[in-house]
Amino acid sequence: MGYNQKMFALGNKRSIIREIFEYSKIRSAEIGAENVFDFSLGNPSVPAPAEVNDTIRELLDTKDSVLLHGYTSAQGDANTRKIIADRINEKFGVGISPNLIYMTCGAAASLSICLKAVIEEGMGDECIVFAPFFTEYRVFVENAGGKLVVSKPMEKTFQIDVADFESKITPATKAVIINSPNNPSGVVYSEETVKALSEVLKRKSDEYGRVIYLIADGPYRELVYSGVEVPYLMNYYDNTLVCYSFSKSLSLPGERIGYIAVAPKMQDAQTIYLCVCGAGRSLGYVCAPSLFQQVIASCIDAKVNVEAYKENRDILYDNLTAYGYECVRPDGAFYLFVKALEEDAYKFYERAKAHELLVVPCDDFGVSGYVRVAYCTDRKKVVGALPAFEALAREYQQ
Ligand code: PLP
Repeated sequence: MGYNQKMFALGNKRSIIREIFEYSKIRSAEIGAENVFDFSLGNPSVPAPAEVNDTIRELLDTKDSVLLHGYTSAQGDANTRKIIADRINEKFGVGISPNLIYMTCGAAASLSICLKAVIEEGMGDECIVFAPFFTEYRVFVENAGGKLVVSKPMEKTFQIDVADFESKITPATKAVIINSPNNPSGVVYSEETVKALSEVLKRKSDEYGRVIYLIADGPYRELVYSGVEVPYLMNYYDNTLVCYSFSKSLSLPGERIGYIAVAPKMQDAQTIYLCVCGAGRSLGYVCAPSLFQQVIASCIDAKVNVEAYKENRDILYDNLTAYGYECVRPDGAFYLFVKALEEDAYKFYERAKAHELLVVPCDDFGVSGYVRVAYCTDRKKVVGALPAFEALAREYQQ
């Protein structure tokens, strides 16, 4: 055919989230944006901290422009990596060196690099993910030459079903991706779950005599409510690669900035770090955006207003459950995972759409019968949508 069929298929078929987002724009033009309740996209709605913008201005005014906009080392600026390593050590005491940090263009790049670094194409390597899971995992795993294997969650709590997870591990298992706080459920995996998962991974690695890598996808780590703790995976399992991003924690998704941290206790940590560097090189993810590497070095302790998300969560969770919807109370991220009021989440989505409510059916996330409500939106929209959610529930009750 003269072109790559797989890439054509990926480019040709938009994700359901993007489809809905595009529909939202068309509908907004028809009836006015204020009348469309779009909960489709995970685009942060709280602004980046003021110090981010102040730092950008200061850098532009005071730094040598050629240096500021120039290439950094392929793995990232040494000072930025040191500052990140220092903060990780202060917070989690893992003793990581800057030489195990690799700067990337956000979590998507971090994941693609880590998978490419450990999966051996053509060897039948498998990667386990926990449903519900971020839909792009399938794309990233398959692009690295691996096969995606899905482990089902515990009913109602959406914690990991450790017995199911164990049953999915085979001699072909090369990597496991874990995402907490979770997109799309908002669930934070408990320490108990993390400990049990780590035990299984250690036991199975020993049994098969090969390392199983744990890839911790944590872009929502900072978005947690009421003091809930998110266990730092390296402290539980040595063979961990952390994929971090500032897209959500600093509301900078368009700036494409994040990092990979290779656990210092990982078997052959330096070798795996070099695999990360090689994978970054092969995928063209070298020299993450220079300006934003500098911004991160100055704003590593900055915080967004997480309380705004918590208030949205409380309003939606309290009201939706009062109307009769079932959903797990999310401890983090900015998603509500709501049981559809009929078996087919897609049909439910269509009926919600008739009320101008745009929610995402979650079949592609590996769980059928649920929709995702992204509440990273302004308060007026959240409150304004309540009568529509109520009317939709009444419609099913009649
Ligand atoms: N992982 C998860 C679970 C996400 O929800 C997202 C984005 O929404 C990403 C990774 C990609 O994040 P980034 O914008 O940093 O590439």
